[in-house]
Amino acid sequence: MTRKLFVTTALPYANGPFHIGHIMEYIQADIWVRLQRMLGHEVNFVCADDAHGAPIMIAAEKAGRTPQQFVAAVAAGRRQYLDGFHISFDHWHSTDAPENHALAQGIYRALRANDLIDVRTIEQFYDPDKGMFLPDRFIKGECPRCGAKDQYGDNCEVCGAVYQPTELKHPYSALSGATPVLRSSEHFFFRLSDPRCVAYLQDWTQDGRLQPEVANKVREWFQPGPDGKPLLGDWDISRDAPYFGIEIPDAPGKYFYVWLDAPIGYLASLTAWFAKNGWDVDAYLADPALEQIHFIGKDIVTFHTLFWPATLHFSGRKAPDRVWVHGHLTVSGEKMSKSRGTGISPLRYLEIGMNAEWLRYYIAAKLNARVEDLDFNPDDFVARVNSDLVGKYVNIASRAAGFLAKRFGGETSADVGVEGRALLDGLRAHADAVRELYDEREYGKALREVMLLADRVNEYVDRAKPWDLARQPGMDTALHDVCTVCIEAFRVLTVYLKPVLPALAAAVEQFLRIAPLSWADAQRALGRQHIGTYRHLMQRVEPRQLDALFEPAPAAAAPACAPAPAAAAQALPGGEALPGGEALAAEIGIADFAKVDLRIARIVAAEPVEGSTKLLRLTLDAGEGRLRNVFSGIAGALAPEQIVGRLTVLVANLAPRKMKFGVSEGMVLSAGHADDKAHPGLYLLEPAPGAAPGLRVR
Ligand SMILES: [Zn+2]
Repeated sequence: MTRKLFVTTALPYANGPFHIGHIMEYIQADIWVRLQRMLGHEVNFVCADDAHGAPIMIAAEKAGRTPQQFVAAVAAGRRQYLDGFHISFDHWHSTDAPENHALAQGIYRALRANDLIDVRTIEQFYDPDKGMFLPDRFIKGECPRCGAKDQYGDNCEVCGAVYQPTELKHPYSALSGATPVLRSSEHFFFRLSDPRCVAYLQDWTQDGRLQPEVANKVREWFQPGPDGKPLLGDWDISRDAPYFGIEIPDAPGKYFYVWLDAPIGYLASLTAWFAKNGWDVDAYLADPALEQIHFIGKDIVTFHTLFWPATLHFSGRKAPDRVWVHGHLTVSGEKMSKSRGTGISPLRYLEIGMNAEWLRYYIAAKLNARVEDLDFNPDDFVARVNSDLVGKYVNIASRAAGFLAKRFGGETSADVGVEGRALLDGLRAHADAVRELYDEREYGKALREVMLLADRVNEYVDRAKPWDLARQPGMDTALHDVCTVCIEAFRVLTVYLKPVLPALAAAVEQFLRIAPLSWADAQRALGRQHIGTYRHLMQRVEPRQLDALFEPAPAAAAPACAPAPAAAAQALPGGEALPGGEALAAEIGIADFAKVDLRIARIVAAEPVEGSTKLLRLTLDAGEGRLRNVFSGIAGALAPEQIVGRLTVLVANLAPRKMKFGVSEGMVLSAGHADDKAHPGLYLLEPAPGAAPGLRVR
């Protein structure tokens, strides 16, 4: 039966670029989704930027932008990561989109109609220096439950407790350092302590849909607290203006707390994706066969297993079928921390030319279905990629392809000998076991199984010795059989690895000249097939690449909207600084500068140039009533979708230059280090908000 699957990953907070933890979660979900698609199931795999809340409002203010501009700039940087790591979301949206405003307000009205919203006057911390109520994340202090220091105002990262900021011991404002004062304000509460909610959630969390360790953890919320009532209290879902968020209906100056509308973003993204295709999202969500599945990290379990299902159920909607929780990524045993900024930069990983599928394979090899942390260990990474992935699997094809091309015109044989057939039958017999392991998110076990199968193939080749057969007269049929078995075994193993290695699988499909592999193709024989020319499918990792990965992060790894850290200026032997890696050019007078006519221009279109890896073809509007065509050598650093719509600076009076691909009418300005190998990263110049095409830069 065809499964109908609505799958999401957690929404990343739009206050900066992805970190490696996001990429790990996307890889986990993407592998699962790709397996389901290979099995012929219907999947809608969506995500969105979590755009609201005080931290973004405050960060935007610091960056001199509106919150909308701030999150748009972060969103524009998403594509390079998602494409770079082969993450196959069907749709990417934003919680600030109109769909989410409508859904959040509709859900709130339904909860209110269901008598589950309360209005209460509460005492809340107010920063007397900043003149505003302090968001939870901007009050710090000691956890009221475990006493851990420097915990945020809404939950404790040490013991996982969720509480009100006023419960913190020794609170202080993270914005000003001032001791906050209490002021009263009217707040809206979702009455989760209502017996209907408690009964529903007790059942929902304990009916077997959650991982056992998650269900156990969540069960604590139903234990009686000091007052004899369950620890699960009512949930404060409102915030006072100024706030970047969704207005609460019939309550001027009140906004939904970001955690109310963030998960609703799953539905908003799905709704937008369905609208784009002209499909009926309500009918889809009403289908009893639909499975709604959320992949999340262990830090947001409470929101997804208590607040979210209650929000959905009591507003008359479908609750999630599964919430699959994973652990955190550690690096050489140390916890990753966004705030401390340590660890692996996923963008740097791509920029220094590391293969995204090495990371996909490595992460998959270490993932299981439990809530366990996963450690990235550089030596282990090199070993697994080189000895397993390349040494065991990729090499199978290279061992046979040369003989097939040289001796048999690139054609496999129609049938193979008894031993070869037994080997292939043995590989095919594992299809169900490998599929089940992937389906249960036991990726590490699935890959161990596949590598054991690869071992069998290599043992077969070692026994058959094709290099000996090739030297013996009259052994052509035997040699042809062995090579055919290798290619066929390689194809079957490629089916098993395709959820993890989609780009490599595509290269194999091209090499074998076959249609995209589905799971069922493991059972079908390749037969006589004229295959393509073998090109090496995957390089080994060089340990020096990992050294480069762990060098201090370059400016490119900084949040999109934060000022880039000053690049360490290199110095000449005499001690003279070389800013940006190069000496200043010879002095010019103001008249020389005035000769250069710089204008603000909007990039209305950007596209790759066929036959060039360096150039993008830009279509620019410099306010002239016509558009300009400019070729720019930024393709290595910037993707078209990152820059379309942006304003930049154009050298408008540069003589047109005829190039191989057409005439270039000017030049756009960007900044980069003189040694772009050691210091990758290219930064397109962008004017401050408010500038318009045609304005002169002086
Ligand atoms: Zn605590």
